[in-house]
Amino acid sequence: MASVRDDVLGILDRLGVPASAFAKGGMAARSPITGEVVAEVREASAEEASAAIGRAHAAFAQWRKVPAPRRGEFVRLIGEELRAHKADLGRLVTLEAGKITSEGLGEVQEMIDICDYAVGLSRQLFGLTIATERPDHRMMETWHPLGVCGVITAFNFPVAVWSWNAALAFVCGDPVVWKPSEKTPLTALAVQAIVEKAAQRFGGVPAGLSEVLIGGRALGEALVDDHRVPVVSATGSTAMGRQVGPRVAARFGRSILELGGNNAAIVAPSADLEIALRAIAFAAIGTAGQRCTTLRRLIVHESVYGELVPKLKGVYGSVKIGDPRENGVLVGPLIDKAAFDGMQRALDEARAAGATVTGGQRAREDLGAEGYYAAPALVEMPSQTGPMLRETFAPILYVTKYASIEEAIAMQNAVGAGLSSSIFTLNMREAELFVSDEGSDCGIANVNIGPSGAEIGGAFGGEKETGGGREAGSDAWKAYMRRATNTVNYGSTVPLAQGVTFEI
Ligand code: NAD
Repeated sequence: MASVRDDVLGILDRLGVPASAFAKGGMAARSPITGEVVAEVREASAEEASAAIGRAHAAFAQWRKVPAPRRGEFVRLIGEELRAHKADLGRLVTLEAGKITSEGLGEVQEMIDICDYAVGLSRQLFGLTIATERPDHRMMETWHPLGVCGVITAFNFPVAVWSWNAALAFVCGDPVVWKPSEKTPLTALAVQAIVEKAAQRFGGVPAGLSEVLIGGRALGEALVDDHRVPVVSATGSTAMGRQVGPRVAARFGRSILELGGNNAAIVAPSADLEIALRAIAFAAIGTAGQRCTTLRRLIVHESVYGELVPKLKGVYGSVKIGDPRENGVLVGPLIDKAAFDGMQRALDEARAAGATVTGGQRAREDLGAEGYYAAPALVEMPSQTGPMLRETFAPILYVTKYASIEEAIAMQNAVGAGLSSSIFTLNMREAELFVSDEGSDCGIANVNIGPSGAEIGGAFGGEKETGGGREAGSDAWKAYMRRATNTVNYGSTVPLAQGVTFEI
């Protein structure tokens, strides 16, 4: 297998990332596979960030006049370029974020899917015609481009989250300024190079339609505070959202917040345990526990606990951990040492709360002293307490027992986050209760599948400390546009609403 560095540099070269993106002594781009620095990237200064926002703002004046289906054609070309470069970009996701090969490729497929969706949407950005009480009048709702969309993304979906936002924003008539995670600058540069190819084929894309700001949190703050950015879509930790939300609101901007999750699954007495086992394993162990929708809490009925948990322990003891490029590996590295240390702290807290921990230790130190691999941890908790109540971004699955479905649903809902949830049951009353008004309080509530692995057709996002934002399908596009209510009088009198008279 090629060295990680050679692998990275070969891909960047093939995708046409310009040499000007790199600078000796610049921001270090690391691969979590070995922890080594694979490139040094040029960071944008505050002045450059402001200039990029200015270019995007200027692009808006032109792009909003391009008919929406024609804007869709640009997104169609982005999708085509992504198809052509799927293998390289997917591999780069593996190299920079540590995802196993099929998940790296799956992330690029998700980008392609949202492009396809957005192309269709570009002919469907429709409003309503509304009944009016005034004779010879017509009342309607129309949707218009909003302006520059700031996109701040997390390391764990380094490219897909940009596309969920950008594909919709572009067809809605909005330029995009992207501040990717400082932990994954290379995939962002690669995406920008791919967008550039699509722009050249399209012809006439205004300069500044798609901008990338490489750097740290300060550049995110520049987007948050800039009045030329009417909508900021921010994906990351709840701590980040707590700062971003009020700051955007203070200038009456709009934010789409996609924050942390603490996702649970309930395993009921009637559950098909074979299905549950597979779904739980993927949701809890997949992506080394670094998905916002990762399964973190398992709430098992006391009657099936004794059968399910030993089987789960078997899976936890046998999954292959290692270089995510290797066939058969299911658990790649954690993103960095801080993630590993956070995992160990949570496990120590759980032990202090009386838990029994299986796994969780450091693994594969042979892959490099700076590569942080961990055996996924199964943590049997005496009750839902301590670290189980918060998100630790690592492969830890807390397991606890329940006696009644009402108790299980109350436990599922008794945490700050409200992203994703599921129930395994063949009992129709329980399944329907779980997805009802009295059921899960999350933005995503599934039956007989795990909480992770969403498709782009549905709206994605969560409630409470997850931030309330929605992206991707359904009517999520409306967040990227402004709504106008128009009343047109085609008569020759001026009747007023509510029977008001005003004779002059
Ligand atoms: P993070 O919060 O550390 O960083 C996310 C991004 O926010 C980065 O680009 C960072 O530079 C930027 N940022 C941080 N503070 C900021 C501020 N005050 N103003 C502006 N920008 C700021 O998150 P991370 O460690 O990269 O990612 C993991 C977290 O993201 C987890 O909590 C996970 O659940 C969450 N996540 C949520 C979703 C979702 O859709 N709900 C998706 C992916 C990840």
